[in-house]
Amino acid sequence: MPFWKTTPLAEMSPTQWESLCDGCGKCCLNKIIDDETEVLYYTNVACELLAHQQGSCKDYEHRFTKVPGCTKVSMDNIAELTWLPKSCAYRRLYLGRDLPHWHPLITGSKQAMQAAGNSVNGRVISEQRVKYLEDHIVLWPLKDVD
Ligand code: SF4
Repeated sequence: MPFWKTTPLAEMSPTQWESLCDGCGKCCLNKIIDDETEVLYYTNVACELLAHQQGSCKDYEHRFTKVPGCTKVSMDNIAELTWLPKSCAYRRLYLGRDLPHWHPLITGSKQAMQAAGNSVNGRVISEQRVKYLEDHIVLWPLKDVD
């Protein structure tokens, strides 16, 4: 049995925890919350540190210094991070779901994830090139395929 089926999130080693991240990059997109309805909208505007093709951070070690608003996903805050996409491995496991069939831990690469439409690869632009986030609202980050 793979470790994520036998080990609760709270008991995972740092290496196991880190390996759960699929590298989709969707958490690194700018989001908008409607003040009146509190509805959350995703945009295709990426954090300046996101490597678009890899879906990973260009400076993971110093990300909190370079981007003060960056959030570390942990057991202490996973319950509150409702803005993470429903496809996020941490959110899925926290809610008692399994990893999806396309997850790199299952397939061994990111190809299936990209084929399932769950990667930012080739679909985003840097926040340094954007004036109004409202012009860049997209629905595809909400996709959650088992
Ligand atoms: S949304 Fe979740 S699984 Fe995807 S890159 Fe972010 S932390 Fe990793």
